[in-house]
Amino acid sequence: MHEKRVALVTGANQGIGLQIAKELAARFTVYLGSRDLAKGEAAAKSLTGDVRAIQLDVTDQASIAAAAKRIRDEVGRLDVLVNNAAISNTTMREGDTVAAYAARTRASTISLDEVRAIWETNVFGALAVYQAVVPLLREAPEGRVVNVSSGVGSLTSNSDPSAPYRGIFGPGYSASKAAMNAMSVAMAIECEGTRIKVNACSPGFTKTNLNGYQGTDTVEQGASEAVRLAQIGPDGPSGTFSHATLGILPW
Ligand code: NAP
Repeated sequence: MHEKRVALVTGANQGIGLQIAKELAARFTVYLGSRDLAKGEAAAKSLTGDVRAIQLDVTDQASIAAAAKRIRDEVGRLDVLVNNAAISNTTMREGDTVAAYAARTRASTISLDEVRAIWETNVFGALAVYQAVVPLLREAPEGRVVNVSSGVGSLTSNSDPSAPYRGIFGPGYSASKAAMNAMSVAMAIECEGTRIKVNACSPGFTKTNLNGYQGTDTVEQGASEAVRLAQIGPDGPSGTFSHATLGILPW
């Protein structure tokens, strides 16, 4: 029986995911997911603790199945899944601003290929990983799922005409995070009455590759709510959407 708690963080070779892996490594055996194994190995080497790079492309069912099998073979259970991997677009050009990209990708103009590619990673990828590892989460004394979502996916906020990011709400990234929130509710409802808790969080506008390092918060700030939700006790919530300093967010 593996003694340390075990966590899997997807898309953890850089950005917020890497920071989540770094902080969880103080207490957990961490499987550091990376679609490019070499990048994952380099990232794992930069951290302290029992950190194991694992090849995991969340859009590739064979990769997901192999990762789940490796975790079962090596440690036999999973205490925490952090669904962190995401992309913001596939067609942003060098020098593009968020506003220019948003203007090009309105509901009437965005290509369905772009929507499908974003949703494949951010929505179906997260659901596919959950489905593959849920049997391992059921083996843990207290399974936790943390879905790294975004405040820009809040349907309630974006229905308010004064919402600050309303102008960039489109069918791609923003709507994918609304869909991820819906998946979180579905997972939490499925897990009611079990030892597994499922919560979503928003990191806030964080300086990472996802936004061309335009974000204003540090990765430490961006990772903090996911790290907290990964470690909530049996009295902690399930089925919530929250931010480190803003508290509970509206779906
Ligand atoms: P990031 O630095 O771009 O990191 C994204 C990670 O996801 C990378 O490791 C990337 O791998 C990985 N990834 C992309 N597609 C993948 C796939 N098919 N399979 C596996 N991994 C894949 O972005 P970040 O800002 O840290 O984003 C982390 C999470 O925070 C995301 O869910 C994002 O939506 C959320 N978030 C970020 C902000 C922000 O302001 N940064 C705000 C709200 C929410 P590669 O290195 O191979 O590309």
